[in-house]
Amino acid sequence: MRRFVDRVVLVTGASRGIGKATAERFAAEGASLVIVSNDGAEAAAVAKELEERGTRALALAADVSLPAEVDAAVASAIEAFGAIDVLINNAGIAWEESFLDIEDGNWRRIVDVNLNGMFYVAQRVARYMAQAGRGVIVNMASTNGLVGEEKYAHYNASKGGVVLLTKTMALELGRKGIRVNCVCPGYIQTPMSEAIDDEAFLRRYIDEKIPLGRAGKTADVAGVFAFLASEDAAFITGEAIVVDGGQLAF
Ligand code: NAP
Repeated sequence: MRRFVDRVVLVTGASRGIGKATAERFAAEGASLVIVSNDGAEAAAVAKELEERGTRALALAADVSLPAEVDAAVASAIEAFGAIDVLINNAGIAWEESFLDIEDGNWRRIVDVNLNGMFYVAQRVARYMAQAGRGVIVNMASTNGLVGEEKYAHYNASKGGVVLLTKTMALELGRKGIRVNCVCPGYIQTPMSEAIDDEAFLRRYIDEKIPLGRAGKTADVAGVFAFLASEDAAFITGEAIVVDGGQLAF
């Protein structure tokens, strides 16, 4: 399938993990890519890999929690490519911390990146899409935005916010030709999850909680991002799509 030929797709947090796999998926389907991450060198390495495979790719460094950096990145993307047709608003951070011990600065950092950053990027790109009269935005939420998990109060709160941000954006932007959905992955093996959990934890987690009997792969999520961004999803907006191997079916 090459559903995104002549389309420009901006992916935040595309230097590794789910974001990188998603950039690769869109590139394989013909898109031009804007690779955004905090660390410009890592973004540039991904853009170079894509270019070597024949994809037009631009790397931009921006901390999504800083509005001025987001403004500059969105302006650079539009200057370089003339459009942003699809936004995959994926950048995020997570770590475990018991509710009673969460330090204010840690609470603020997670909400700043995962919720405020999602808003800054989505609003700036949506302003451009509203002028163009079309566009697709897919935000990264989590199963942790739908149900609670111990030791993740800050993360869960930020992702719950993303789900309702998504639904409200869908209500306000539909008549401007913009669809907005979010994806709620369960356990996906990425540098983020590998930094938090060891193998024994993961084996137990899979046995106890995931009906399909395995952890998710980055490609499992990338394929859903691509579906939601495509014309196959032309009548879907305001949805939170769960990608969790059946975990929330319990
Ligand atoms: P990851 O491997 O740690 O990748 C995170 C990406 O986000 C990196 O490219 C990182 O780049 C970027 N990033 C982090 N903070 C940023 C900031 N302030 N500004 C710009 N970029 C920033 O994580 P992942 O597991 O792929 O997670 C990606 C998204 O999926 C996150 O929103 C996460 O919450 C969500 N998610 C993950 C899982 C899972 O099980 N892994 C499940 C549900 C949802 P830099 O290093 O340059 O900052």
